[in-house]
Amino acid sequence: MEIKRRKKGYDYGECEICNAYMEEKYIKQDFWIRGELIVVEDVPAGVCPQCGERVVKADVGRWITRLLENTEQIAKAPKISVPMIKFFDEEKTKV
Ligand SMILES: [Zn+2]
Repeated sequence: MEIKRRKKGYDYGECEICNAYMEEKYIKQDFWIRGELIVVEDVPAGVCPQCGERVVKADVGRWITRLLENTEQIAKAPKISVPMIKFFDEEKTKV
């Protein structure tokens, strides 16, 4: 019997929460570093098609850590603006 060893990405196995088979996707991951929001694009991750749970490989995690330490590169990176809302809005404070 021939063993099929076709490399088709990394096997993330099953979701810990709902046991669905994880799919490999490239995601955007956000990090708060010293009060600054940094978004890392195209992070290879296993994503659960049912509950959205995400897992990254240990070496991917280590690489992200290295990217986030590169303050020079971060300073030169393009900026995006994000909406920021307050937890207590006008409506809710009226009792
Ligand atoms: Zn799941």
